[in-house]
Amino acid sequence: HIAAEKALQDRYAQELALPAITLDHTRVHLYLNAGLLSSLASEIAEGADGIGLYRTEIPFMLQSRFPSEMEQTEVYRQVLEAAVDKPVVMRTLDVGGDKPLSYFPIIEDNPFLGWRGIRLTLDHPELFLVQLRAMLNAAGSSEQLHILLPMVCCLDEIDQAIGYLDQAYLEVKQDIHPALVKPKIGIMLEVPALLFQLEEVAKRVDFISVGSNDLTQYLLAVDRNNPRVSSLYDCYHPGILRALKRARQECDHYQLPVSVCGELAGEPIGVILLVAMGFNQLSMNQGSLAKINYLIRRVSYKDLSELLVQALSQSNGVEVRLLVTEFLTRRQ
Ligand code: PEP
Ligand code: MG
Repeated sequence: HIAAEKALQDRYAQELALPAITLDHTRVHLYLNAGLLSSLASEIAEGADGIGLYRTEIPFMLQSRFPSEMEQTEVYRQVLEAAVDKPVVMRTLDVGGDKPLSYFPIIEDNPFLGWRGIRLTLDHPELFLVQLRAMLNAAGSSEQLHILLPMVCCLDEIDQAIGYLDQAYLEVKQDIHPALVKPKIGIMLEVPALLFQLEEVAKRVDFISVGSNDLTQYLLAVDRNNPRVSSLYDCYHPGILRALKRARQECDHYQLPVSVCGELAGEPIGVILLVAMGFNQLSMNQGSLAKINYLIRRVSYKDLSELLVQALSQSNGVEVRLLVTEFLTRRQ
């Protein structure tokens, strides 16, 4: 069994350098999710179109105090270098919820509904500005850097964050890099209310990235880490799928570039459904990249669209999985 699995992995890896394109020529761009420098291996050079989600909270979690501006600059510079000249989407600090910092304890009854992500950094502009300056300083005159804001729930948070970014930009341009490039800015779509404000979001940002992990948790009111309710935590719930499809259509309508960076984007069933909905930028863990590339090269968008219609009319996530698994088995 292990030998068979190894043979399969080798088969996927052989095609890694070929583009992820369906049989009927739909191009899908594949990016990596990363948080540790050591996990940025040769895939970036070979198979990925860039880093679609760099979780900056990971290096923060490994320290015993807030890393200084210089320390952060060095880490971000290494990440940009590892991506060679491909785009890197760096997410600003997303602590709180399930991601604690030992040196910044937060005690709350409902941490997932509490002080996390952008809420925390907007309350601590001194932390936010240091991080933004470090990112800008690391990128300098390169166009690689994209900045992503986590857990946004209000337009006002976007406006405030852009204000801080403008300030950090002016400071770094004046003090360090006269030719500093202004990075593209985007937000995570993970709070459901924003599904209904995409028109206004599109006026403020350059792109969005769907955080299907949190979006599922908040749409279903199910804690993503509580084993008691884990059977209810299901990204394939038809209600979630309809929300994603609607989001894709709205982004098209308002010409807002959109990617998906939750776990769904690295699972074969999820990829089938997302590509069928028209998502063509997917960001996933390193371990999924070769397999997903291989899969996309063997399906046609037309078949997937027909499957999606059926998937959306199933009554629950179990039926959706069964339907798509049967489709995948027939294709093997
Ligand atoms: C998500 O919520 O889907 C996401 C990618 O962010 P994280 O898993 O880091 O919360
Ligand atoms: Mg999230």
